[in-house]
Amino acid sequence: MRSIDVEIVAKEVERLFIEANYILPDDVKNKLEEALVYETNPLSKDILNILKINYKKSEEMIYPLCQDTGMAVVFLEIGQEIHFENGFIGDAICKGVENAYNKGYLRKSVVADPLKNRANTKTNLPPVIHTEITKGDKLKITVIPKGFGAENQSAIKMLTPSDGREGIIDFIVSGVIKSGGKGCPPSVIGVGIGGTFEYAAILAKKALLISLDKPNEDPFYKDMEEEILTKINQSGVGSQGIGGNISCLSIKILTYPTHIAGLPVAYNYCCHSTRHKSCVI
Ligand code: SF4
Repeated sequence: MRSIDVEIVAKEVERLFIEANYILPDDVKNKLEEALVYETNPLSKDILNILKINYKKSEEMIYPLCQDTGMAVVFLEIGQEIHFENGFIGDAICKGVENAYNKGYLRKSVVADPLKNRANTKTNLPPVIHTEITKGDKLKITVIPKGFGAENQSAIKMLTPSDGREGIIDFIVSGVIKSGGKGCPPSVIGVGIGGTFEYAAILAKKALLISLDKPNEDPFYKDMEEEILTKINQSGVGSQGIGGNISCLSIKILTYPTHIAGLPVAYNYCCHSTRHKSCVI
């Protein structure tokens, strides 16, 4: 059994949320550079150049990548040989989130009740926490500050097995094109196929964590990712919906076994500010 002080977890969560909000991952920067090469509409090119200036300034810790610093999503991979000491792990994560949003001057965007009075909690709490038990004695923490301009453009559908590959592609391509500029394109789309209703959505969010530089190892899904990407980019939506040939930077698909009668599919829309950060303790 290995003991981990939850105070260390709180400090790491604080650091990760601040860094994620100020420093764009290299793979996203690379894709934005690529987009600058392939974009032919001068207005969309201007926007891509502004996005570049924006992430460079943000890296100097002058201001966050975006004013919407997101709802805090945390993925925990907890080795089964870990024992947490000095408190409850859930409280430690909340402490880390609250400190990050205070010390990092990040906007607090969470309302306590989704329907009644929608009063801001003023702490950006609570976060959404997903936990998975893994082998060994390591703890992996991944944080995603998820802006809702993009989150709102996500969708889930219970397709039937006969809808197949084409049904999935139609569902994603038509939905993403219909979103136009609302999700702050150029986008990154995480796709979850299989599992159950809720698990497809979790897979879609996890797919946003895959490096954009890493092609899918399965030729079938690699081909599907490329077809979806091409069709979305042929739509002409462009950066921020202003028109152009780059509307989407990358499609990432994750799959899981499912029931004989079903084909759950979810896609999680993410904007040009695809932010996440991980550490292993
Ligand atoms: S969708 Fe992304 S870039 Fe647009 S406002 Fe939200 S976080 Fe910012």
